[in-house]
Amino acid sequence: MPKPFDVIIIGAGAMGVSTTLALANRGVRVLAMDKHSIPNTMGSSHGHSRAIRMGYYEHPDYVPLLRRAYDLWHQWEAASECQLLHMTSGLYMGAADSDLVSGSIRAAREHGLQHEVLSRDEIALRYPQFNLPDDFVAMHEAAAGLLLPELAISTAASRAERAGAELHANEPVIEWKVGSDGVEVRTTTCTYEAEKIVICGGAWSVRLLQNLDVCLKVTRQVVGWVEPVRPERFALGTFPTWALSAPDGNLYYGFPMLADNRGLKLGHHWHAQTTDADTVVREALPGDEDDFRPALTRFLPGADGPLKSIGVCLYTNSPDSHFIIDKHPEHDRVTFACGFSGHGFKFMPVIGEILADLALNGRTDLPIDFLRISRLQRPPSLSLASPSERRGRG
Ligand SMILES: Cc1cc2nc3c(=O)[nH]c(=O)nc-3n(C[C@H](O)[C@H](O)[C@H](O)COP(=O)(O)OP(=O)(O)OC[C@H]3O[C@@H](n4cnc5c(N)ncnc54)[C@H](O)[C@@H]3O)c2cc1C
Repeated sequence: MPKPFDVIIIGAGAMGVSTTLALANRGVRVLAMDKHSIPNTMGSSHGHSRAIRMGYYEHPDYVPLLRRAYDLWHQWEAASECQLLHMTSGLYMGAADSDLVSGSIRAAREHGLQHEVLSRDEIALRYPQFNLPDDFVAMHEAAAGLLLPELAISTAASRAERAGAELHANEPVIEWKVGSDGVEVRTTTCTYEAEKIVICGGAWSVRLLQNLDVCLKVTRQVVGWVEPVRPERFALGTFPTWALSAPDGNLYYGFPMLADNRGLKLGHHWHAQTTDADTVVREALPGDEDDFRPALTRFLPGADGPLKSIGVCLYTNSPDSHFIIDKHPEHDRVTFACGFSGHGFKFMPVIGEILADLALNGRTDLPIDFLRISRLQRPPSLSLASPSERRGRG
């Protein structure tokens, strides 16, 4: 008996919706379910902006995936007639030997990406908003910008529906089972059958992946919006999307101000307090502002104005901070992606394409071998080195 669906997607956040769209565009009968609304503010894909950049300091092997992601973002914009991406340029600042600066330059050189290396004086001339230590330099790239996450998810969901996909919001999946002739997915309201499933559970992945031995740490990340003294100096078109590696090792990032009057957004990229996606405190706590305020005072004094709001979002960190994208080692009918470790959004369209390839064909032509789960299952002495260790080895 043919199953009612070819593929069921569990988790319709950024990666799940993108996979739903990729499958529906290929004529596949697909059902996607999310325990919350689509989009929602409960997981990892809210907060009005996400950085996208090419010179990828985390690992140069992401660059081919980014090239494809950029192409797809532009295709998505054309298909939806919506602006999802603002090209703002990107400025990555720090000491010359910081992972951020040296890694960005390395990725740019390795992949022939257009970029400039700026001295501290050149940064001061072009972006006087920053007050930087004497030994700072920067990499600047034009091919960087900011994405609008909620709009990206809602337009992808609408397009998937128009292409024939079914999307069920507010329908939590309780369990899934693999049988000899298909899969069964039980939700709070119904049991569905399909040939295959794709699991994109974000911060809930450990629970959803059931017996898969993957170590993921969910952390409570805080972002802030402030009111600069002179907002015009930080407006879209004037100010870049930026990241800064502080002398004490902290990494901060931020965006130009959008026309929505929410304020200037910035955050601290680190493994904050470990939490649980169901019990995390989503309201601002005393002390949350201390997470990013020192960066304003020290490096962006002209933006060190009153706090407008604080947001809480979740990182799902893999052991080496690289994504995990693969077929389930024990179930051929199950594909999954998780562990986006606070830097996955910019890849949303290409992850959808990869997961659709893996679910339908068992393989993909896109270069994801460095993201497979097997790297984490090797004996510790052979495990994948961190990007900085790999760089050290040349
Ligand atoms: C503060 C912050 C800043 C970030 N900045 C950047 C950035 O600048 N650039 C960048 O590229 N990335 C950034 N990221 C990371 C990026 O946003 C994430 O990697 C990406 O959004 C993860 O998408 P996802 O689909 O895995 O998770 P989500 O979008 O959270 O989706 C998971 C979905 O699964 C659903 N779900 C869970 N359990 C069930 C169940 N039982 N049944 C049904 N549905 C279920 C959830 O409701 C959720 O909607 C940032 C993240 C945060 C938190």
